[in-house]
Amino acid sequence: MTETTELDPTRRYLRPVARLPLPDQPDVVHLAVYEWLPMFEAWATGMALCGYSTRQGPLPEGTVVTCARCLEWQPKCERMLAPGYRPEDDDPDVLRRRAEAAERLHQTHLEVERRLAVEGLAAAAAIERVRNVLDELKAQGATGMQFYTGVLAALDEPKRRTR
Ligand SMILES: [Zn+2]
Repeated sequence: MTETTELDPTRRYLRPVARLPLPDQPDVVHLAVYEWLPMFEAWATGMALCGYSTRQGPLPEGTVVTCARCLEWQPKCERMLAPGYRPEDDDPDVLRRRAEAAERLHQTHLEVERRLAVEGLAAAAAIERVRNVLDELKAQGATGMQFYTGVLAALDEPKRRTR
């Protein structure tokens, strides 16, 4: 089969497979894992994902799978067969903890953004206030301690208001 030359023998694939020609078998096309068996130096299909036995060998690429239970298992099996799959990816506890950690990170990020926005507004307000006070003090001809006391009071003002 030409297909085997394109497949990676270290990986496993899903392929449509035919039912066994027995009267008690549902008339559907199943899905099975297709893998390289080093002992036999051959590619082979296993039992159907739904648990039924099947005829050996994959059906032609593009054959429509009609077994509902095989189709149900397909997404999970595809995940498990994908390169880089980690078994803990299907552990609900691990997934939940990962989701919680992501949520905490997201909330912290929002809090930092909120704080930065508040600080930014406060800083802008302080700068504006000091600028106005400087103008006033200059207009009054204030000097020395009178001048600096006025500037410090302007800097403190937004803090007093928010606390
Ligand atoms: Zn099936």
